[in-house]
Amino acid sequence: SEILNSMPKAELHAHLNGSLSLSTIQKLIDLKTAHHCEDVHNLESIISKLCDEKHNKTLDECFQVFKIIHQLTDSEKSIYIATVDVIKEFAKENVRYLELRTTPRAIDGSIDTYVNAVIKGIDDCRKEKIPILVKLLLSIDRSRGVDVAKQIVDLTISLGHARNDVVVGLDVSGNMAMSNITDYFPLLQKVKDAGLKLTVHTAEVRNDAEAEAILRLKPDRIGHGTFISPSLIESPHLLNLLMESNIPVELCLTSNLVCKTVPSYQDHHLKVFLEHGIPFSICTDDKGVFSTSLSQEYLIVSRTFNFTLSTMWSFSWKSLDYTFAAQNEKEDLRKIWKEWEHKNE
Ligand code: 5GP
Repeated sequence: SEILNSMPKAELHAHLNGSLSLSTIQKLIDLKTAHHCEDVHNLESIISKLCDEKHNKTLDECFQVFKIIHQLTDSEKSIYIATVDVIKEFAKENVRYLELRTTPRAIDGSIDTYVNAVIKGIDDCRKEKIPILVKLLLSIDRSRGVDVAKQIVDLTISLGHARNDVVVGLDVSGNMAMSNITDYFPLLQKVKDAGLKLTVHTAEVRNDAEAEAILRLKPDRIGHGTFISPSLIESPHLLNLLMESNIPVELCLTSNLVCKTVPSYQDHHLKVFLEHGIPFSICTDDKGVFSTSLSQEYLIVSRTFNFTLSTMWSFSWKSLDYTFAAQNEKEDLRKIWKEWEHKNE
């Protein structure tokens, strides 16, 4: 496990507010207490919910946990602290490329304030020379409606120009049970037309018609892709579509197990996707809420399927192709990966 910790890795699917460690949460509670905020009373329950690794949550329960965490990241300062801590924690386990995603919420009436606090955190880590390249995706929460999403899309496009060194695209996440994805398609097309990248949570729960519509939209990556797997659905139609499109999939094993969308690690679709040549990247989703780390996810994959270290390295290596970094940045990252490979041959 130490060797997987030392291996350079790329994290392509990490939600900021789901990635907060307990120490960051404690810091943010202390910040609230210092400001004599009255609403810290239910924060005890966050700690117990987050500490309880074995408490299997349903997806709906996870969405409830996010609502509680959001009470802690409701100011410029708390969002900044959250961003810096998450970046440093990933860097500590040798994640050398991080694509962070977050759903902007209005701070004092402005979503710009929220995003600027995140970007400041990223910029300051860069200035501090933390050895990790960080990019940002803005997320739209599909349960919050098209009007809110439009504001976020407009901000993504404007920052995708003004801060194209950091903001690379858009993610679609949130509770899929509460919305119709096609309502968002004109907005997603706008992001694509602006030359920005797009990743969409797809088939996280079963909805074949929706999964097909998303695959036909051709996002640059998809998240989860669970109910595309022939081990879970009878028809190979979606799998064929995914294979034809060659869209890389962000796979989050612990998240899927905890939320019970896959019955066991053994049954995870990673194996099926590998056998069908579908490109994928191993990711954490929400390292805080699911008490994991990227090294831990690599360890779970290697133990579950008996993969050798060199196979694990090749998964990490290939995930560089699927990042939304610029070509020259990818080349620089590949040097780091190669250097580690030579040292560990
Ligand atoms: P944030 O965007 O606030 O930084 O991170 C938390 C948010 O990410 C949640 O409120 C939710 O919208 C989204 N999210 C985190 N994990 C998941 C997941 O497993 N599935 C989906 N669909 N959305 C998620």
